[in-house]
Amino acid sequence: MPVRPIVQLGDPVLTQPAKRVHRVDDSIDRLIQDMIDTMLDAPGSGLAAPQIGVPLRIITTHIDEELHVIVNPEIVWMSEETEIAEEGCLSIRGYAGPVERALRCRVRGIDRRGKKLKLKAEDWLARCLQHEVDHLNGILYIDRVVDKSTIHRVDEDYEVEPEETMRETVPAAEEQSAPEAMASPVGARETGDESLR
Ligand SMILES: [Zn+2]
Repeated sequence: MPVRPIVQLGDPVLTQPAKRVHRVDDSIDRLIQDMIDTMLDAPGSGLAAPQIGVPLRIITTHIDEELHVIVNPEIVWMSEETEIAEEGCLSIRGYAGPVERALRCRVRGIDRRGKKLKLKAEDWLARCLQHEVDHLNGILYIDRVVDKSTIHRVDEDYEVEPEETMRETVPAAEEQSAPEAMASPVGARETGDESLR
């Protein structure tokens, strides 16, 4: 199965909301296989269909040797407890920055065979799922970095790994209603894009 080119920042497909999948048929199955192959080849811990230029609501993740495929994923719950950790993106090669995300979340969707699925996630998987679902809504991690000056260059082949990251847990008590605050992109996209071009 072919590894597809990964769309880079500046392509409009990355900033548009993706469309729901109505039926998981053979063409969707082939697309999913291409996404998995592309993600593993990169290598990356997650991929959203828009990142290979297909504006459909499909995500894949690969963390701790565990593979997840979710069609039409919906985050149905996020913990108030959040964590700030460094993120990168296969569509923004060579950069990373700290992003605050819910520490745990629950996601619903359908699997590769068209069956309903529910997933409880925490730590890196929870972060990755939030990052990938953001892609389906046209939101990039750089939109969520509060202080754009913290976005920094990294090696082209740099892959953000949980154990390498600077992590800071934000207690729920100090949070000002995290899930609501995170429902919309934080900060101006223009500023982020400029610093990255
Ligand atoms: Zn990404």
